[in-house]
Amino acid sequence: MKIVMLGAPGAGKGTQAKMIAKKCDIPHISTGDIFRENIKNGTPLGAKAKTYMDKGLLVPDELVCDLVVDRIQQDDCKNGYILDGFPRTIPQAQALEDALTKIGQKLDYAIDIEVPDENIIRRMSGRRSCPKCGAIYHVVNNPPKKEGICDVCGTELVFRADDKEETVRNRLDVYHTQTQPLIDFYKERGVLQEVDGTKSMDDVFGQIVSIIF
Ligand code: AMP
Repeated sequence: MKIVMLGAPGAGKGTQAKMIAKKCDIPHISTGDIFRENIKNGTPLGAKAKTYMDKGLLVPDELVCDLVVDRIQQDDCKNGYILDGFPRTIPQAQALEDALTKIGQKLDYAIDIEVPDENIIRRMSGRRSCPKCGAIYHVVNNPPKKEGICDVCGTELVFRADDKEETVRNRLDVYHTQTQPLIDFYKERGVLQEVDGTKSMDDVFGQIVSIIF
C-alpha cells in the first residue's frame, strides 16, 4: 500500500499517517520529522532546512526529492509506505511519479484531509509535540495523560516554533499556492480521495480506513 497524505499544515496528516502506518504495518515517512531530526543532530542538511522552516517556507525541492526517493527504496518499504508532508509541490510530485515509474510502481491513494483555514489556526495554537518520538497532542482535543509529558516516551512536550500564529498564516499561504495544486494532479491520476478533517480524530481515521480497506 503506497499512500500520500495531502492537506494543510495542522489538518491532522501526521496523526492520521501514524495511525494508518500502524494498522497497515508500513513505515510512516514524514519529511518534516526527517528535517527536525537533522536539525537536532546538527547536520548540514538540518542547518539548511532550518532557515526555511523557521519562516514557514518550504525547503527547496532539490533538498527533499532525492532524500525521499532514496528512502522509499529501502528494504522496509517493500510492502508500501505512507508519505506525510511529501510531495508539497508539483515538481516534487513529478519527481516521485518519475521515480515510481522507473521501478514499475504507482501510488494507491492520495488522501486529502480537508480543514478550513480558521479551524487550522485555532488548532495549531493548542498543538504540542514530542521532540523525541514525534507524537502530536492538542491541549484540548487530544491531551496527553500527564500535562506537558509525552504518553509514549515520557519526554517533555514542546510548542513548535513554526506553530506560532504568524508562521502558521505563512504556511497556509504557502500551502494554498504551492501544495493545493497537487489535489488536481492526483485527481487527474484517479487516486485522489477526500476526507472531512473537521471531525474527531477517530472519525477521520474511520473515513480513511473505509477508503483503503
Ligand atoms: P511538517 O512537519 O510536515 O509540517 O513540515 C515542517 C516544515 O518542514 C515545513 O513547513 C517545511 O518548511 C519543511 N518541509 C517538510 N516537508 C517538506 C517538503 N516536502 N518540501 C519542502 N519543505 C518541507
